[in-house]
Amino acid sequence: NQEFDVLSAAKSWRLEDFADHSPSAVINDVYASDVLTLEELRQRLSRPVFKSLQATLEKSSTLDPSIADTVALAMKTWAMEKGATHYTHWFQPLTGSTAEKHDSFLTPTTDGLAIATFSGKELIQAEPDASSFPSGGLRATFEARGYTAWDPSSPAFIMRHSNGATLCIPTAFASWTGEALDLKTPLLRSIEALNQAVMPALKLMGSDANKVGSSLGAEQEYFLIAEEYYYGRPDLVMTGRTLFGAKPPRGQELEDHYFGAIPDRVLSFMADAEKQMYALGIPVKTRHNEVAPGQFEIAPIYEQSNVAADHQQLIMQILRNTARKYGLVALLHEKPFAGVNGSGKHCNWSMGTDTGENLLEPGDTPHENMQFLFFCAAVIKAVDDHQDLLRVSVASAQNDHRLGANEAPPAIISIFLGDELTDILDRLTSGQGGRGTAAGVLGLGAPVLPKLPRHAGDRNRTSPFAFTGNKFEFRAAGSSQSISFPITVLNTIVADAVSQLTVTLKEKLGGSRSKRSLDEAIAAVVRDVYSAHKRIVFNGDGYSDAWHKEAEKRGLLNLRTTLDAIETFSAAKNVTLFEDFKVLSKRELEARQEVMYDIYFKTVNIEGETTEYIAQTMILPAALSYLAALGDVDVKSKAVKGLSEEVSGLADDLYEALGKLRKVNAEEGGEEVHEKAHHMRDHVLPAMLDVRAAADGLEKLVAVKYWPLPNYRQMLFVK
Ligand code: ADP
Ligand code: MG
Repeated sequence: NQEFDVLSAAKSWRLEDFADHSPSAVINDVYASDVLTLEELRQRLSRPVFKSLQATLEKSSTLDPSIADTVALAMKTWAMEKGATHYTHWFQPLTGSTAEKHDSFLTPTTDGLAIATFSGKELIQAEPDASSFPSGGLRATFEARGYTAWDPSSPAFIMRHSNGATLCIPTAFASWTGEALDLKTPLLRSIEALNQAVMPALKLMGSDANKVGSSLGAEQEYFLIAEEYYYGRPDLVMTGRTLFGAKPPRGQELEDHYFGAIPDRVLSFMADAEKQMYALGIPVKTRHNEVAPGQFEIAPIYEQSNVAADHQQLIMQILRNTARKYGLVALLHEKPFAGVNGSGKHCNWSMGTDTGENLLEPGDTPHENMQFLFFCAAVIKAVDDHQDLLRVSVASAQNDHRLGANEAPPAIISIFLGDELTDILDRLTSGQGGRGTAAGVLGLGAPVLPKLPRHAGDRNRTSPFAFTGNKFEFRAAGSSQSISFPITVLNTIVADAVSQLTVTLKEKLGGSRSKRSLDEAIAAVVRDVYSAHKRIVFNGDGYSDAWHKEAEKRGLLNLRTTLDAIETFSAAKNVTLFEDFKVLSKRELEARQEVMYDIYFKTVNIEGETTEYIAQTMILPAALSYLAALGDVDVKSKAVKGLSEEVSGLADDLYEALGKLRKVNAEEGGEEVHEKAHHMRDHVLPAMLDVRAAADGLEKLVAVKYWPLPNYRQMLFVK
């Protein structure tokens, strides 16, 4: 049997090795030093070439092939100055993580030597073998190839490792038939869809903006545990979460961890990771302890959502890699430990113009406020119309342990608006009565509306979707997932709502374009939307049973599990929506649905088999060894007799539950992937829970020195 040395876990890291007090730690010198910024390119390219590149970026068009070689040469020179020997097209397949295949700049010459080369063709396009990435059936077997294509709207960067560096070129990934096989392509399309939908509304309102995009700031939660413990837990290694573990005597009830002083070892890790993020131009801003023991958060300042999504992937990667230097492991799973808080990734989302205006910022003038209310109403309508899609966008086997449990947003999608904003909308709606528009609006106070709250301090942690002053915060997203899909959905559903509301606004306006009639027309639109979609607004406690009942009365969806959610993805309304806005074709959507089923099935399948393995080969033997040891002790002892009975009772329960788990693990559940997925949810997960219940009971009885797994107390409290 194995013993876990608590002292070594707490001490075995060597901070001195990494201590860095060099001036390079100063943000100014480091920030974006490993990013090929536009400014850097401007200095390295001739004026006409740079202008052409810039035009490409502004119009989101494809790069002029005649300048590609020149741009590639500049990129290679810059990368080699930074120490890079290789380049890679960096992309985001449907697995949710990132993929990279490194090629060196090396080209052999006829004289037996070599030179460094990198052509325009290699920059613009590459052909990774796509057959090992999930495609949901999009890629027929006879055409296994896929290609990656440069996304010039997200800057190239240098990824460093202990023995060198690689030039990373953000790319989209598609099949040869032109179908997206990645998460970036639909995100880029949705950004364009939002632009196309919002600009006409803004023009009606007299805006001088040329372009609209979405912004995103994602708050990443994660756990840190000592490396020794991690490798002692096959469940963490194989599945990212603990499949066993009795509750420790102390959880998060003391509430002493949140925002508490950060231990030096952890702080050093954070500082190290942040320095790497700064070099990559990732604007990390905030770090703190989270609610659960051993849980932390890191948040960057918001950015254009495509870049934010790329940066978010890098943040996860850097956290994972850097923790290891400090003898720690970063757990990004949504629910690594039962009974303590899980981890989410709050997505702070807003829309903004190229002129720097945030469309979700209440303004100082009544007119600005009308515009704000229009876009706010659009978001309310979007969320109500497409509750199912928001739920789908955060659905995963991992997140099921969070959503709907008593400590994370519920699986029911609703919006928290805060008291002030709700009050304004209520008054706008009810004040109208049967009277004319003007009277209703003007009746609200001078001159059109009361001043709106800016950055309302009101926080409601239980809402999955909250207005927080000048942005919406989508809190249901899971800690380990890519934010690309949730943001794709948000952009698309808001584009849908805005375009519908713009049609109504035009009708209400008729031929008039005066400020006053515009304000009145917007007020009328907002009033209609709010009356029709008020049911989605909920400012109360989302964890309460009362809300579950109330939500049902209101007719809101409660898609409790991932499989309930995935099923709705391909509903006719959703296919039409994604096709209309050219974000996903029907085939692409159905392929994604297939991939979601498949990933769910595989995830739970691995968990089921890991549970079986650990129970069978580690926990049951531990219980039996302990029983045997008790057998060696004086049998007349009441303690021995009592304990033996208890242990052997639970060992029997474990044995029986294990038998059932082995049986369902061996079954397929059906031919189709969704049938297999349902088998996992309906038979494997419950069987795993029964095994766990008996095992966790044993953990409380069996002597520590017999117990084969590091326990919750060690993992959560030893740093
Ligand atoms: P919180 O509201 O959660 O207390 P902050 O106000 O600091 O914390 O914001 C959290 C995240 O929201 C940060 O990433 C921040 O950059 C981002 N954020 C702030 N304003 C916006 C905005 N207009 N659009 C998108 N994200 C934003
Ligand atoms: Mg927040």
